[in-house]
Amino acid sequence: MSARVHIGLGSNQGASIDILLTAIEDIRHYAQNGLIDMSEFYRTQPVGPQDQPDFINAVIALRTELSPKALLCRLQSIEGHHKRQRNNERWGPRTLDLDILLYDDQRVVSETLIIPHPRMAERRFVLKPLMDIDPDIEIPGYGVAQMCLCRCEPLRMEKIEITA
Ligand code: ATP
Ligand code: CA
Ligand code: CA
Ligand code: CA
Repeated sequence: MSARVHIGLGSNQGASIDILLTAIEDIRHYAQNGLIDMSEFYRTQPVGPQDQPDFINAVIALRTELSPKALLCRLQSIEGHHKRQRNNERWGPRTLDLDILLYDDQRVVSETLIIPHPRMAERRFVLKPLMDIDPDIEIPGYGVAQMCLCRCEPLRMEKIEITA
């Protein structure tokens, strides 16, 4: 039985749109999965340090046979391919960030992995694209995404056209 998974993508260094499109292809290959759906792409105001470029953010939904931990491991290796520098300042600039948002309706709490992603419910740049894919989705432990969205800080965010 495969799981239905949502992954949040972000980039604010380099050719961010191309990096996200390539990462989506990488995930398709690496995660032994079928891509189910893809959100719109958004240009978003950074959370935390403001002396950095805007982010490009999107969310994808896919099916995978991989366990949550195996999936995280592959996502981190994809981040590595894009020369993601770790041990940057927290929430600082990066070429590629891949977060597991949801894994079916499972809850995972370990030292290296927490699902649902512990900060997703307070982030417009996650909830908005997530709802492009699943408008009525509920986040286990946090409630309906639409309600979470209403409580978010109104950081700047705009849809962008992707010519793929
Ligand atoms: P944030 O988690 O607030 O979005 P970030 O994405 O910048 O911040 P990272 O430096 O990319 O944080 O990740 C730090 C660690 O978070 C990773 O090494 C990973 O072990 C852990 N982690 C915990 N839960 C998750 C998750 N659901 N998806 C991805 N990484 C996670
Ligand atoms: Ca993140
Ligand atoms: Ca991350
Ligand atoms: Ca759709």
